[in-house]
Amino acid sequence: MADAPAGSWVPGADGSGFGIENLPYGVVRHRGGRPVPAIRIGAFALDLAAVASAGLLPIPGLEPGVFAEPALNAFLGLGPRIWSDTRRRLQALLAKGSSELDPIAVPALLPLEEVRTVLPVNIGNYVDGYASIEHATNVGRLFRPEGDPLTPNWRHVPIAYHGRARTVVPSGTPVRRPWGQRPPAQPGAAPSFEPERRLDFELELGFVTAAGPSLGEPIPVRRAAEHIFGVVLVNDWSAREIQRWESQPLGPYLGKSFATSISPWIVPLEALAPVRVPGVPQRPEPLPYLRLEDPWALDIDLEATITPEASGVATRVTRTNSRGLYWSAPQQLAHATSGGATIGPGDLFASGTISGTEAGSYGCLLERSRAGREPIPLDDGGSRTFLEDGDTVTIRGYGEAARISLGELTGRVAPAGTWSGFHE
Ligand code: MN
Repeated sequence: MADAPAGSWVPGADGSGFGIENLPYGVVRHRGGRPVPAIRIGAFALDLAAVASAGLLPIPGLEPGVFAEPALNAFLGLGPRIWSDTRRRLQALLAKGSSELDPIAVPALLPLEEVRTVLPVNIGNYVDGYASIEHATNVGRLFRPEGDPLTPNWRHVPIAYHGRARTVVPSGTPVRRPWGQRPPAQPGAAPSFEPERRLDFELELGFVTAAGPSLGEPIPVRRAAEHIFGVVLVNDWSAREIQRWESQPLGPYLGKSFATSISPWIVPLEALAPVRVPGVPQRPEPLPYLRLEDPWALDIDLEATITPEASGVATRVTRTNSRGLYWSAPQQLAHATSGGATIGPGDLFASGTISGTEAGSYGCLLERSRAGREPIPLDDGGSRTFLEDGDTVTIRGYGEAARISLGELTGRVAPAGTWSGFHE
């Protein structure tokens, strides 16, 4: 932010990616206490319940109870003016030279080692998009080798499906390999029911919403920013065999619904102003309700690593950037509400897998291994086509030469359970 103070008195904050120009929001438990809203500054979480109850957030319209909630939904419902006032006030409290926030009188600055991050919002609805033209083209080629890899609607409709909000989990939650139907080996044969063999990750960005207009009233694309609070990293875990068998004719279901992980800290839109850049040209021009000239692509470097449990050695399997996404967040939101659907504070809209143009920039193993045909070498001497039990997937994101960090999103693959339900 051009108007952000030059630095913070919090030790180590400047230059950490979590300096005063970032200040992402999350929810933390301190030493097993109740969950409280917080912002991250350097290697600390600032407890906003403590700051607010000390009377240090005198912002018109910000009731003190908002930060006594165990999730950020109430704050997100207040809208952009109050988000902005709160952010400026927090920047002032944390700015170099400020002594208003006395750490002894108000013990609100908590070392990250002493807190556990939990889901920052109660997610009311979850939508996953398909906004990367490279990903859609690669997957189209794998699944439909004959013909045009992009379906005829793709350049007109920001394609998406409704996901399962209840199984969105915070970073660090183990993800159990799902059981499901495996497609028949040859046409006409029966499918089997077994642990998924082709478990995958999908590297994505997601945006978290504010309140929306009432039922039946769309959000115009030019006003979408008023309804977008901020951005998180998303891992849309995918079971490829289940997905391949179930997806025609109605789209993804159990192949996606067993778990979706999000990063702990929501980076507010205001912090992302320096990384907003013009998007890729859209040809043909979208319909008028999706037309937007503002720079809405996000220049955020993204990477994913796989760390097998046995070796503990991390291999970077993907390095990409979200600025190449074809459809932007405002276009996704305008489209989602164009028919009259509503949104509320804390809905999650994910971008879809973010892939670039070369193999090293593909955002999932399905593309990286060409549907299992080309193993990816790992730095510990092993290789992967899809994820194995014990693998930890870590996604990181950072913008503006790492001045703005989106932090880290991790999840470890746990073995499939002993599934006995079908005997009963
Ligand atoms: Mn996805």
